[in-house]
Amino acid sequence: MAVALDIARQNPNAPVLAAVAAVPADDPRPSLIGLTREEMAEALIGAGIAPAQARMRVSQLWHWLYHRGVTDFAEMTNVAKDLRARLAGIFTLARPEIVAEQISTDGTRKWLMRFPARGAGRPVEVETVYIPEEGRGTLCVSSQVGCTLTCTFCHTGTQTLVRNLTAEEIVAQILVARDRLGDHPGGTAPTDGAMPSEGRAVTNIVMMGMGEPLYNFDHVKAALVIASDGEGIALSRRRITLSTSGVVPMIHRAGDEIGVMLAISLHAVRDDLRDVLVPLNRKYPIAELLEACRNYPGLSNARRITFEYVMLKGVNDSPADARALVRLLNGIPAKINLIPFNPWPGSPYECSDWETIETFADIVNKAGYASPIRTPRGRDILAACGQLKSETQRMRARERLALGAMVAGTAD
Ligand code: SAH
Ligand code: SF4
Repeated sequence: MAVALDIARQNPNAPVLAAVAAVPADDPRPSLIGLTREEMAEALIGAGIAPAQARMRVSQLWHWLYHRGVTDFAEMTNVAKDLRARLAGIFTLARPEIVAEQISTDGTRKWLMRFPARGAGRPVEVETVYIPEEGRGTLCVSSQVGCTLTCTFCHTGTQTLVRNLTAEEIVAQILVARDRLGDHPGGTAPTDGAMPSEGRAVTNIVMMGMGEPLYNFDHVKAALVIASDGEGIALSRRRITLSTSGVVPMIHRAGDEIGVMLAISLHAVRDDLRDVLVPLNRKYPIAELLEACRNYPGLSNARRITFEYVMLKGVNDSPADARALVRLLNGIPAKINLIPFNPWPGSPYECSDWETIETFADIVNKAGYASPIRTPRGRDILAACGQLKSETQRMRARERLALGAMVAGTAD
């Protein structure tokens, strides 16, 4: 609650709804959410279900968990009552606590979720963002709390890694969003912000929240397989995008084993500049990164790689940079996503002027790349690309600043 109030103080215009569904932090029961089919079958056999029935039960449970979005075994009407009670004694389906929900003036929503430790190290808080548009709704999902990488333009990069999220925690972000958006059967869509005009509320998922998804491969894979499975959350793989800063050795596996769309955070066309903006470049330079892209499984003109390019004033935004970008991507089925830089407190860069961005976009468009300029969304609630940071870390940073000011004051 203190955290929710703190967010409200920071952004007085953003409505904050606190503590929507709480999980007892000390619940010792494991969750069934996020398990692969094999893991769930094993868990059910461990709970006394006959091995011959396990596969059928997994299908049944997936339908209830991911299609219907139930949080209580009692609602699973095609499962015998005594089995429901037995499962409820052993497993939990509880959602994480929603510490805060903020709605931007442009309809973007941001949730701060708190996950209990449940064997994963320690309790953590994570931000998830929903961006409604006319015919679609995109959910921006986090894969880690913090990030080990230190891209100089990214707010998350200023936060050290706390830990990887589990598959349960990644899937739970999607389930909570769908609960809140009335996206499960029988749900009611909210009326306090823009929503897609028809169809599902969450039509697309982008792994572009906090963290580097390819440094948490197994959990991200398990979660995205559930998101794309017809008996799971049932989103087409073409509507799921994994964004990486360029973890070259994992890129092929991402295509092979997860099969989702790929986005590369490129941001610079020369190694000397990319070394600074995306320090991982020192390990995997541009040429190696693009070679991995050329070999991405399933790559074709119908399944292009998106190259993300953040527009930083006077740093990477000249017409010469635009032309070099076009040359660099020659021969790769690609889209270019120009992202106006989203500032955050203390950020060392400025966003390029609009005219400069348009000139840059013209050059890449004329070279045949569809290159939409991504309109900044949710900036007023710090929900735009690269602005996410766990609220606890934000509070600690503010406390450190305040403490620093006090110490400085004493010294004067
Ligand atoms: N770690 C992954 C995914 C999370 S970042 C990656 O780096 O790709 C999601 C996207 O937001 C990336 O393209 C990242 O470069 C971009 N981004 C980070 N900080 C930003 C900022 N301040 N303004 C605009 N985009 C930013
Ligand atoms: Fe991590 Fe991506 Fe931010 Fe870089 S841009 S610090 S990889 S979250």
